[in-house]
Amino acid sequence: MSYSYLAEHINEVKKDIAAVCNRIGKSAEEITLLGVTKTYEADVMNASIEYGIQNVAENRVQEVIRKFDDVNKGVKWHLIGHLQTNKVKYIIDKVDLIHSVDSLKLAQEISTRAGRIGKTQDILIQVNVADETQKFGVSPEELKTLLKDISNLPHIRVCGLMNIAPFLDDPEMLRDDFKIMKQLFDGLEDYNFENVKSTYLSMGMSNDYEVALEEGSNMLRIGTKIYGKRI
Ligand SMILES: *Cc1c(COP(=O)(O)O)cnc(C)c1O
Repeated sequence: MSYSYLAEHINEVKKDIAAVCNRIGKSAEEITLLGVTKTYEADVMNASIEYGIQNVAENRVQEVIRKFDDVNKGVKWHLIGHLQTNKVKYIIDKVDLIHSVDSLKLAQEISTRAGRIGKTQDILIQVNVADETQKFGVSPEELKTLLKDISNLPHIRVCGLMNIAPFLDDPEMLRDDFKIMKQLFDGLEDYNFENVKSTYLSMGMSNDYEVALEEGSNMLRIGTKIYGKRI
């Protein structure tokens, strides 16, 4: 089976990223591109890795466990979907960055489990800026308190923020939400909390990544545009 379409798709996305970066005066090297591989099997993931994907992202714990051993070593794994506290133990030794932390209880469990294997786990805080239809993510008002509480945990490092925008036909409609995310992100280091850094702003998916980039995202989560439509 030929996966050369993956090479084409990846190059297209990279070209778009370079074009936007050029327009806004940023270096494309500052942008981390994640291949969102949910529903795709290890052979497809490995082909995309051969074609230059260095970070893969899954939204379900089950899929990480199922595919982990068959995927090329050296690639970084990201968990981008909702994480239940009782499932942390299954992925703590596998994932490089957990994007979806939105409660102290979850952060405590991550810190405990990370400590047991001698790891400091990098995480992002999922923020829900405007979308009432979403169950997950903290509100901007809750963010500071959560960060303060998490900063006391010994085996966790907050590296930035993540946002899941609603799917809209016109991604321009998301620009204001992305701006709010960028402001929150830029404010992170002003709190001076231990172990809280503004390294990654994870926002932008296939439909809206150009707008997200323009508004300051530096970590894109791209599924459909690279791997094709999920069935
Ligand atoms: C599926 C998913 C993506 C990728 O979405 P595409 O539209 O396929 O690019 C990004 N982020 C999260 C959290 C997802 O679940």
